Amino acid sequence: MLNQDSLTREDIVLLLNLPRNEASALYEKAASVRRQYVGDKVHLRGLIELSNICEKNCYYCGIRKDNRQIRRYNIPDDEVLKAARFAFDNGFGSIALQSGEIQSDSFTRRISRLLRQIKKIGDGSLGITLSCGEQSREVYQEWFEAGAHRYLLRIETSGKGLYGRLHPDDTRHRWDSRVRCLHDLQETGYQTGTGVMIGLPFQTAEELADDLLFMKSFDIDMCGMGPYVVHNDTPLAVHESLLLPVEQRFELTMKMVAVLRIMMKDINIVSATAVQAIRKGGREKILQAGANVLMPNITPGKYRDSYLLYRNKPGTDESAEDAVKNIEALVKAAGMTIEYGKWGDSRHYLEKRKNTSHQH
Ligand code: SAH
Ligand code: SF4
Repeated sequence: MLNQDSLTREDIVLLLNLPRNEASALYEKAASVRRQYVGDKVHLRGLIELSNICEKNCYYCGIRKDNRQIRRYNIPDDEVLKAARFAFDNGFGSIALQSGEIQSDSFTRRISRLLRQIKKIGDGSLGITLSCGEQSREVYQEWFEAGAHRYLLRIETSGKGLYGRLHPDDTRHRWDSRVRCLHDLQETGYQTGTGVMIGLPFQTAEELADDLLFMKSFDIDMCGMGPYVVHNDTPLAVHESLLLPVEQRFELTMKMVAVLRIMMKDINIVSATAVQAIRKGGREKILQAGANVLMPNITPGKYRDSYLLYRNKPGTDESAEDAVKNIEALVKAAGMTIEYGKWGDSRHYLEKRKNTSHQH
């Protein structure tokens, strides 16, 4: 089955349910696909969590609007630029700017301004991924023109029913809008990434299989998916007793990454930070199961503790310098090497573009 060109929903469910002692063949196959199609290089995106102010109320997220237990921050521009320069000085080819979701003119302008300033560092040396939630097509266009070329917007779950149980029922939290945003991003010309949370309450293996099929049919360029990790001060925390034990959630994450690598051979797949919250040394295992991107956190230390999306978020007591050292060791443990100084774009996206330009 692992050598088939396309996997059916039933095939995927079977793979996701593989017992532990049979799963290693799946991971090895995924690693060999990765080696053959995108190589053994890991691309780095220095993650800057620019603000934890959010207008939304996703039931799983620790920085949701109604959580009054946290201090809200907005990193001043000069500190964001300093962090971006740190990434550049350390040979990271790219950075990722992430924040809570704010839809306002001043936020839009601020991001545009930051993008243009970051683009000046090293004469356009840094690639930039944005992850600032749902925005209008015009806003996506403006940011694209200002220098962002990749965008990560997780669908969270491809199941509309499950999505409804994870979000308030109002116009700000619509599954259809999220899909519309993904289309807009793709049409604007971004390398478009999506992903899901794995091991959510109520989630089934069939739904996870559908998530992978959704990514395939959407023809995404990148994927960032990771385990769901409880945050105590959120409405979803009451369902903790329904969750798979962390070890199983971790294994399910590994399987999801491995199956996706086999289904979409030349995309970029992140080994997500959340993995580290439930399993020490987990991120290298995810690399070994087919991922090829890491997002070391380079948010200035004093803001780290306030960007707590979930319990045990790693690196809240780790400096950016430590993060760089740790990442070296981690990649080595996975038997891979870091690609310094390059954007590390999605090969899938580049191939698609080559093919369409031939047609003109
Ligand atoms: N506001 C933006 C980006 C920041 S949130 C957005 O929502 O797109 C980034 C991601 O964090 C979300 O897509 C979600 O998948 C993840 N996340 C939030 N809470 C989480 C939790 N409790 N466990 C695991 N991942 C979580
Ligand atoms: Fe806001 Fe994103 Fe958290 Fe939802 S997941 S509450 S949009 S930061």
